[in-house]
Amino acid sequence: MVTNDEIRQRLHEQREGTNIKEYLVCNNCEGAYELLPGEKPEDFSDECECGGKLTYSKDSSINDNKPTKTNKMVKNGLIIFIVVLGLVIFIGPMAYIGFVGMVVSHDEESGSAYDQLAVLKSDYNSLNDQFTNVQTSVDSSNNQNAKTAFINAKLELVKANSDINDVESALSSGKSKDEITQRVNTAQTQLNKAQSELSNVKAMI
Ligand SMILES: [Zn+2]
Repeated sequence: MVTNDEIRQRLHEQREGTNIKEYLVCNNCEGAYELLPGEKPEDFSDECECGGKLTYSKDSSINDNKPTKTNKMVKNGLIIFIVVLGLVIFIGPMAYIGFVGMVVSHDEESGSAYDQLAVLKSDYNSLNDQFTNVQTSVDSSNNQNAKTAFINAKLELVKANSDINDVESALSSGKSKDEITQRVNTAQTQLNKAQSELSNVKAMI
């Protein structure tokens, strides 16, 4: 059994010739009162100025751990770091998902525009085949009106081809969605016009 007196005696012996320091540390404001040689914890009230409870502490390294402005800044920095880390962990993925969503929707828009371009090209090719077939009939006929009408229809087909190329260049140069849509519509209208004029030529022969 170790008595309080023996503890005090040992503490006193430890302090002799050592740099071990004794403190009364407040559990509230974290203030530390260093005990000077000859002073004992029981010489002091166990209540801090702030109303907190003072606890006896002996540590040669307490100078480093003693609550200081720097320590509080480190503590605050740690809290800020944890908060920021939390934001990165929880908001980061959401931002990433949002970003991916934007990229995907952008790809889908471009994708549908590329689909429209493919349809335009396919329509143009089949219409061009029809023109080739009709040309044979027109050439073999002696219908001058049909020949003139065919040339005019063919000009509309050439314009349609040019409009389709405009769609392709708008896509490859990253033009706005509205611009691409407008060019697709122009090309589609022009294809319809060429188709319609070819039908007129067919009706003449
Ligand atoms: Zn205090």
